[in-house]
Amino acid sequence: MSTFKAPKGTYDLLPPESAKFLAVREAIAAPLRNSGYGYIETPGFENVELFARGVGESTDIVTKEMYVFETKGGDRLALRPETTAPVLRAVLEANLHKAGNLPVKVWYSGSQYRYERPQKGRYRHFSQVGAEAIGAEDPALDAELIILADQSYRALGLRNFRILLNSLGDQECRPVYRAALQDFLRGLDLDEDTLRRAEINPLRVLDDKRPEVQQQLTDAPLLRDYLCDACKAYHEEVRDLITAAGVVFEDDPKLVRGLDYYTRTTFEFVHDGLGSQSAVGGGGRYDGLSEMIGGPSLPSVGWALGVDRTVLALEAEGIELDIPSATSVYAVPLGEEARRILFAKVTELRKNGVAADFSYGGKGLKAAMKAANRSGARYALVLGERDLADGVVQLKDMESGEQTAIGVNEIVAELESRLG
Ligand code: AMP
Repeated sequence: MSTFKAPKGTYDLLPPESAKFLAVREAIAAPLRNSGYGYIETPGFENVELFARGVGESTDIVTKEMYVFETKGGDRLALRPETTAPVLRAVLEANLHKAGNLPVKVWYSGSQYRYERPQKGRYRHFSQVGAEAIGAEDPALDAELIILADQSYRALGLRNFRILLNSLGDQECRPVYRAALQDFLRGLDLDEDTLRRAEINPLRVLDDKRPEVQQQLTDAPLLRDYLCDACKAYHEEVRDLITAAGVVFEDDPKLVRGLDYYTRTTFEFVHDGLGSQSAVGGGGRYDGLSEMIGGPSLPSVGWALGVDRTVLALEAEGIELDIPSATSVYAVPLGEEARRILFAKVTELRKNGVAADFSYGGKGLKAAMKAANRSGARYALVLGERDLADGVVQLKDMESGEQTAIGVNEIVAELESRLG
């Protein structure tokens, strides 16, 4: 063991388990790629101000959870706690949002960093796949994103998840609601911190998970009773579109994203087998974000799905992903001459697209065959002294145990035909 350990709140992805993470990322990415989303990658760190403005000065993420550091050049940077603001920053910087080009649809996959109290499903380094559709106000776009997330979870075999849906209204109706909620909150028995939050960002109080707070919120006014006609119509259209797509959801009138630039559609995917960290993904409309970071008005919608929690959800449902064995052919040379020949054959197989591996380190037959077994290869190739003299190689079918001698010069073609 080394003297070092992975930092608190982090863990390493190791084979073979790591294959699940790749499969989850791929399952989330595939429907996006299939729906006009292009891949975007932004740096792992950004100017700290981008998050302060883009995520919100009053959020836990910004006040408590960001990894902030100063560079030798004096820049104040933060490891990204989320990727929506960076994506929008990148789109604006590269001028992708030209008229005629909207919406800009992009997806990303990457690490996020939050200094949170670690527990199962909550880490300081975690991974998300996200999608953003920037610069269009169209209920079909909100519906598209919800449908695609649902599709990727279903493709993974997940069933015990629920989609919670709400509308947060817009600049017209939300202020009226906000005032009504504030009036209500002022009459409650809340600690000072929460009362302060109620003044700055009352919607966030609805999101307070503490039972003593939740108890008092039973009769809180609900945004859905305050929606203006335009927001109501928009929300109905989103609901109709996802219903028509066969996606089941629950209306959750208390679901909020407590930032001012979030508007209208908001949703969360929760999994019932995960305990307290049950949100596997979430998103919504953020029509005001572009202006908050100095851009033009660009109504947008997006989501981020957590890869770590999706893997935990798979485990909670006992789902074994069908991950094909990485290796099809495993070559076992016995001796120097055999090594040169088989190494060339393995190289040729790989060039032709056959997944092949090799017994390195001069292992004996027994140890090498064990390694062949572990690799999950369908075929082993064994080349010993006598085979060399005969110009053949032993081709062993690892499933049936059947062994055939094949001419050294025919072996590549033979394997290709057997593996289809
Ligand atoms: P958020 O960006 O907070 O809306 O989170 C979106 C998704 O990212 C959540 O639903 C989780 O699946 C995942 N996530 C957020 N924070 C963490 C964390 N600390 N550890 C693991 N996954 C997280």
